[in-house]
Formats: sequence, C-alpha cells, structure tokens
Amino acid sequence: MTASDRNPVGGPGAEVDVCVTGGGSTALLAALLCARAGRSVLLVAPEAEFEPAGAGISPLVAPPTLGLLAGEGVEEELLGAGQRILGADDHGRDGLLSRWRYYDLPGIARPYGLTVPTGTLVQALLARLRAEPSATVRTGRRVTALGQDEDGVLLTFADTTAGTTAGTTGDGAGGGAEERVRARYAVAADGRHSPLRDLSGITVRDTPFGRPGWLVAAPVVPRREPVLLVRHPAPQALFTVPTPGDSMAVVWCPDREQGEALGQADPEVFAGQIKTVDPELADWLGEVRDRTSPVFRIDFAMWQAASWRRGRVLLLGESAHGMHTLGGQGLNQSLHSAASLARAVDEALAHKDPTRVEAYERIRRPYVERLQELQWNTPALRSYEAEPPRRGAHQDFVEVMTTLQPELAEQLGAGAR
Ligand SMILES: Cc1cc2nc3c(=O)[nH]c(=O)nc-3n(C[C@H](O)[C@H](O)[C@H](O)COP(=O)(O)OP(=O)(O)OC[C@H]3O[C@@H](n4cnc5c(N)ncnc54)[C@H](O)[C@@H]3O)c2cc1C
Repeated sequence: MTASDRNPVGGPGAEVDVCVTGGGSTALLAALLCARAGRSVLLVAPEAEFEPAGAGISPLVAPPTLGLLAGEGVEEELLGAGQRILGADDHGRDGLLSRWRYYDLPGIARPYGLTVPTGTLVQALLARLRAEPSATVRTGRRVTALGQDEDGVLLTFADTTAGTTAGTTGDGAGGGAEERVRARYAVAADGRHSPLRDLSGITVRDTPFGRPGWLVAAPVVPRREPVLLVRHPAPQALFTVPTPGDSMAVVWCPDREQGEALGQADPEVFAGQIKTVDPELADWLGEVRDRTSPVFRIDFAMWQAASWRRGRVLLLGESAHGMHTLGGQGLNQSLHSAASLARAVDEALAHKDPTRVEAYERIRRPYVERLQELQWNTPALRSYEAEPPRRGAHQDFVEVMTTLQPELAEQLGAGAR
C-alpha cells in the first residue's frame, strides 16, 4: 500500500485505489472485496438511501454465490432472512419433464439455493463495507464527467439531492458543489443505464426477447415443497418460487392473445388465465386476493456491452450485461464477476501492472455471453411456438445454477500476489 492509499477519502482532491459507482449488492461486494484486500475504496451511490433490509425483489441466490458470500461473513444473516429452495420441478403438457434437487448433486457444498430480498443483501454487505477502515461510502451523488490518463481516472460527481440534507448523514461531506475524485481504477456497477459506462464511451446492444411475463407476489400455496415449479404446456409457461415470509413470486408467460388481454394487468384476468395450467394456484390466488401484489409486466431483454473495460474503467453487473430471469442468473453472475474484478484489480495494483486487470474480462465475459446465448437460443423465451417442450425449462441451466465457473474458481484460488 502506498501513502496515498491511506488518504482519507472525501473532499476536494480525494484519491483512492478504486472508486465504485452504484448502490446495489454487486457494487457493494466489489467494494468490500477491494477494501478487504487492503485497497482504499470509495463507493458512490446515486440514491440518498440504500435499499432497506427486507425490501426489493427476492432473487434466487445459488449455492456457489452463497459460498462467495460466506467468505465475506454474511451467509448466516442471509440464511436467517431467506427462504431455502431445494431444487426444480418442470412439467410439460403431459407430465413431469425434469426434477432435480440440490442434495442429489455430487459434491455440492450447500444443498439449497436461497431466495433473499435484495435489500437484505445490500444491508448485510453495506455494514461490512462501512466497518472497513480503508473504505468510504457516499450517497446522493452521480458521476457527471470522466477523464483518464495512464495512471488512473478522474471522476466528477454532482449532488443528486441538492436542497435536501441527504448524503450528509454519516456518509461523508454534505452535498452542494461538484467533487472530483482521482482513482487508479473505476468500477461502473451503476446498472443497466450506467452513466459511467456511457461516459467511458462503451456502447451496449440491447435486444428484447419479445415475449413478456406478468409477475405477482402472494402468500405461498400451503403444503407445496419449496422448489422452483414450472408448468409449461406451451406456448404458456408458469413459474412459481417461494420467497421469504411465507410468500411466493408467480411469473406467468401467457400466449399472445392472453397477453393482450392482460394489458390492464387485472388480477382477476391473471388468475383466470392460469386456471387451465394450475387450478390449485388459481383458486389460492382467489382466496388471498387481498394479500396479493398488483400484477407487474416484465419485458425481458438481453443486453451486452461492446467491451467490459475501457482504459481503467471496468463494467460490472447490469452495466455490462442483462439476461432473462430463466435460470436466475442476473444477480448471481454479477456477484461472481465482482469477485473476479476485485481479484484482478488487486493483482494489477500489487504488481503495478495495469495489464493484469485484463484477466477480469478475459475470464468472465465469454462465460456470461455463452449463458446469454443459451437463453437467446431457447425458443420458448422468444416465440409463441406451441410445440410441446421435450426438456424441462431449467434442465440446460442446472450446471450454471449449481457450480462456480471453473476459470473463476481457479482465479480466486490462485490468490497469490
Ligand atoms: C423479476 C426479476 C427476478 C429476478 N430473479 C433473479 C434471480 O432469481 N436470480 C438472479 O441472479 N437474478 C435475478 N434477477 C436479476 C437481478 O435482480 C439483477 O441482475 C441484479 O439485481 C443486477 O445487479 P446490479 O447491481 O448490476 O444492478 P442493480 O441492482 O440494478 O443496481 C444498480 C445500481 O446502480 C445504481 N444506479 C442506478 N442509476 C444510477 C445512476 N444514474 N448513477 C449512478 N448509479 C446508478 C443504483 O444505486 C442501483 O442500485 C431478477 C430480476 C428481476 C427483474
């Protein structure tokens, strides 16, 4: 570590090893791993507040991701707040197409996945990050300008909360004027419409799958095993997954005409449509109508950044890629990438060799893009073809849902500086 690594961050002329933009769990994990490697880190989030525990959607966190999070000491907290998922059952038109359970998979360290609110994960990581002496967390600021030279980046931030007191509560200096931060590396973990990515000049190809889904959150159907349950008579498909607090998420992908009828997102129409596919669930939704969320439409899309790095700016999570929710990989892959990125940046800093940061994109991008292609080439996600499915919806994703990418495991295992 150099003397400048230990400079307190914040205020004019701040200088850090790594500046991460974004306030989601991907940004927080990357910042935490860099800080725990002894690097000075500044995390800058645009919102005045981080997502509170218990809030947000509850993605399925896969066993290998739980392993990475366990390494940072947050697993127990997540297990306490999450819902264990034991595997998947996929039904076609004429019965069960595939069934697997995590505990049947040889060598699996954790025989379950965990649905957990994004806010709970955010708060768990945030608490650890704030405890790191070399880390500073700032809120209510967005990046407005970027300059780069051979040694690092110069970022300009503006207050997003001007006229309020947000950003001044325990997160460093108050708002108002623009601030400049010099960093050896900058990480754009600021989401699908990443301002930092756009400032770096990296372009994105964003393509809709063209077949939407409709989502509701409701109390869980009693006495059903906690698994990912798919009913796929084709062209319709119905997905349910239990979530914490005896709840569940239901995603309904109707046929084209039903989709048009659902335009108004009417809960009665929603329950009526799924009755032919899962009568018990439809009746249950009728019973718990007053405890069910509004119906939300989800327009699935795939997006890919043209590169994951420009100079010393690295893209992470949804600033680099977006995928379909089938297989539940958006967050998982983003967190795996956070681990890869933090290791590559640490190596580059330790050896004063910026070329070492290339390992991140070299290891992670082909893997993530292969997964995106797998989804893109799954006909049921893009067309209303009525051909009955021969394979379970999750069957081609079991490996990615249950194992860490071997090259990433090798990168993280190497560890030596
Ligand atoms: C219905 C649904 C179900 C899903 N289920 C799963 C699942 O089961 N498993 C799974 O792995 N994934 C799932 N996903 C995907 C997963 O939620 C996302 O891939 C993941 O949250 C992306 O993380 P991220 O940190 O890259 O982006 P985000 O979570 O979007 O975070 C981006 C952050 O960027 C910041 N930001 C936003 N705008 C700006 C700005 N202007 N300037 C600076 N910063 C900004 C914000 O602080 C924000 O928190 C699901 C998604 C949906 C919609």
